[in-house]
Amino acid sequence: YTADVQTVAATLLAHTGPLVLLAHENPDGDALGSVLGLARALRALGREVHAPMAVPRYLRFMPAPGELDDALAAFPVGSMAVVLDVDNNDPSRVAGAPLADFAGDVVNIDHHGTNRRRFTAGIVDPSRPATAMIVADVIDEMGVTWSEAIATPLMLGLNTDTGSFRFSSVTPETFECAGRLLAHGARLAWLNDELGQHPQTYYALLREVLSTLEFLHGGRVVLARVDSAMLERTAATWEDVESYVSMLRAAEGARLAVMVKDFGPQVKLSMRSRSGVSAQNVAVAMGGGGHVPAAGATVSEPYEVMRPRLDEAIRAELERADAGAETSASA
Ligand code: 5GP
Ligand code: MN
Ligand code: MN
Repeated sequence: YTADVQTVAATLLAHTGPLVLLAHENPDGDALGSVLGLARALRALGREVHAPMAVPRYLRFMPAPGELDDALAAFPVGSMAVVLDVDNNDPSRVAGAPLADFAGDVVNIDHHGTNRRRFTAGIVDPSRPATAMIVADVIDEMGVTWSEAIATPLMLGLNTDTGSFRFSSVTPETFECAGRLLAHGARLAWLNDELGQHPQTYYALLREVLSTLEFLHGGRVVLARVDSAMLERTAATWEDVESYVSMLRAAEGARLAVMVKDFGPQVKLSMRSRSGVSAQNVAVAMGGGGHVPAAGATVSEPYEVMRPRLDEAIRAELERADAGAETSASA
């Protein structure tokens, strides 16, 4: 489908029944910000909005108490589902309500290049660094009166998915959008202060995780592993792990950072890349997806079993990136 902002806004406006906003499991700032911004905008239009989401601790400063719902057992009668920021290459990542059994209209707003699913209407625009940016356009198109309450969560999405406006995904258009959100009252400095804080368990766990650190391929790849025994010893949670991967990526000379979350029977990979290396290629090779600089995969194998395949996927991607560099150097 080739739906545009106008079609999506019109589809949402035409539906006067309850709307259910869904994002991906383990929601990030863009998933929460997009859901919350759109929820507040639609409520400003008088719509009944359900937004079931398990908000991670580090983002709990954002929603007002009671503003989001607990996971729903079923969709309200006459409802429409809006799926935000979910890489639907992997529909099992939709969280909050059982979308698989839902027969009604589904609107999809996303910026994942690996999104291949079809919906009633939707925008999948990988050129946008955050889904929140597309949501801002939809809100404009719906004619909602902007407020600080709508602008701030969207700024949260834009800020977190761009690494605070540091990633290569940032374009002049990103700053135009950020400028508009600021003009509408978005509290950027407050967001960054809230996002910059970590609980003590974060530091206790970090001490253990750093003891697993591996510098591979001459330091071009940095890998670390965390398992549940480490979490138990330090009273930490999986949420404490979230930002470790960007710390690994900061290693001088690192082109790929891999954080291995070892759940035992299952392993989750969280990857970041730079300098022509694609985390997405490695993720796709491991059955996952994401974006070129930030991608992940869930592998239903113990770590020892999947590690050789991971090493091979990394080796192949480095080789591909080096060949690409030679080609462009000689061109
Ligand atoms: P993170 O490392 O922050 O968990 O995820 C980075 C990006 O990788 C996400 O925005 C998402 O696009 C992608 N991603 C992470 N985990 C998975 C996964 O298990 N499957 C797929 N398809 N994509 C993932
Ligand atoms: Mn996301
Ligand atoms: Mn996103």
